[in-house]
Amino acid sequence: MKTILVTGGTGYIGSHTVVELLNLNYEVVIIDNLSNSKEMVLDRIEKITGKRPKFYKGDIRSREDLNKIFKENKIDCVINFAGLKAVGESVRMPLEYYENNIYGAVVLLEEMKKNGVFNFIFSSSATVYGDPASVPVDETFPTGGTTNPYGTTKLFIERILQDLAVAEPEFNICILRYFNPIGAHPSGLMGEDPNGIPNNLAPYITQVMVGKREKLNIFGDDYDTPDGTCIRDYIHVCDLAYGHVCAIKKLEEKPGVVVYNLGTGKGSSVFDILHAFEKAYGKPIPYSVAPRRAGDVTANYTKVDKAAKEIGFTAKYNIEDMARDAWNWQKNNPNGYEE
Ligand code: NAD
Ligand code: UDP
Repeated sequence: MKTILVTGGTGYIGSHTVVELLNLNYEVVIIDNLSNSKEMVLDRIEKITGKRPKFYKGDIRSREDLNKIFKENKIDCVINFAGLKAVGESVRMPLEYYENNIYGAVVLLEEMKKNGVFNFIFSSSATVYGDPASVPVDETFPTGGTTNPYGTTKLFIERILQDLAVAEPEFNICILRYFNPIGAHPSGLMGEDPNGIPNNLAPYITQVMVGKREKLNIFGDDYDTPDGTCIRDYIHVCDLAYGHVCAIKKLEEKPGVVVYNLGTGKGSSVFDILHAFEKAYGKPIPYSVAPRRAGDVTANYTKVDKAAKEIGFTAKYNIEDMARDAWNWQKNNPNGYEE
């Protein structure tokens, strides 16, 4: 496979994946409506790789936008990052989430089919496991029990993809369930740039470090874990980006539909993450303990055996690397991609 269409390619995970693909000499075409990213990301991608991906400002819900791309480029595979991803917002605006994420994916798949493109990689999430009965989770664990509309969009799209694979054996589909991507490109040129107050732990911490927020609020220290805070499987965004290359190679074997968890296999608590950032910072980071956040599960981390065995994926960065790179990005770009 040579030419990859990356939807949502100017976003956080998409942009890092585009860099990885360009470095490995894939041709990359991006479609993004810039609802949660900036065009300046393209300059940063070019600065890092020496190559500028072809960019279409467009929407995956627009058949016209998609057809233009499929007519003008010979696409071999689509990686679908485009989607809305804020958990709290999805509770307030479920219809927007179902429309953007689910309808968007359906339109994209229909237009792929019409244009004879049958390789698809989908950004799913560990959230499809709901509150797992035990950890580590593996890909055979039951899905369901999602706690918000965002998570439910991932669950439904996975079901749609499973149905599609049965009905249309020409399709080859890789569902990647990401655990918690954090960190940034080691160059300090690309990273996570959330709008407004960050919902997620790592960007909140780096905004405290850069002086934009007063202190971290730790949502609960009375969970049944060694230090009382929740446990997650944080994965460096560059490792995650590489996971997509592994997925592309897998699709070349025409496997039908396959599912992989992408994580490090190591659970870290909120305090572990805070301490990793303090190490990068060289001083303490102010925090206080706040009430639990609704919908948070106590612990979720993955088994890594299936991805290692079947697609050769192993994460190489640890949480200290993730903290160092996230801080390097934030300190060099205190206002993200703003000029
Ligand atoms: P992001 O918001 O940075 O990137 C998504 C990109 O898609 C943005 O650039 C946005 O402008 C674009 N977009 C949204 N709707 C679109 C549409 N209809 N048409 C065209 N472009 C559209 O998010 P991210 O963190 O890079 O996440 C990428 C994908 O991975 C998402 O599907 C997300 O749900 C999934 N995911 C993310 C995480 C995480 O923690 N970041 C975890 C699990 C899964
Ligand atoms: N968290 C926190 N303070 C914050 C943001 C997150 O204590 O400002 C905690 C949250 O309760 C969870 C962990 O950090 O235990 C990871 O949260 P995040 O939103 O980053 O990821 P997710 O909930 O999707 O796993």
